[in-house]
Amino acid sequence: MLTREEMDKLRAKLDRESVNVCFNKGTESPFTGKYWDNHKVGTYVCVVCGTPLFSSDTKFESGTGWPSFFQPISKGMIKEESDRSFGMVRTEVSCGNCGCHLGHVFEDGPRPTGLRYCINSAALEFKPSTGS
Ligand code: FE
Repeated sequence: MLTREEMDKLRAKLDRESVNVCFNKGTESPFTGKYWDNHKVGTYVCVVCGTPLFSSDTKFESGTGWPSFFQPISKGMIKEESDRSFGMVRTEVSCGNCGCHLGHVFEDGPRPTGLRYCINSAALEFKPSTGS
């Protein structure tokens, strides 16, 4: 985990939408983010702390308007917690390193995991693989 001071520094570099998603648990409007329709090969890292979170190999077309993945790069790099806000029971997903909010995970995803990690573009930064 990062110190309060380190977090403040990282937060100051973000745009308003990313601050709203990552620190206020906001949700970007569907089909408006940078990555729901990104098909390039590479890695999605935490926009706040740079931790690698999702690979393009596990991204799929969910039709929701948010970037969707069937699994994270490593279970240890994300945190999952029950979220009972807005009268729904959902599982919140946050960055395992800095704790920022990323999105939610649902159990209606494709094979092989059956999971759908529904992640805000504003919480991610895409790093293309070299040579792709
Ligand atoms: Fe992070």
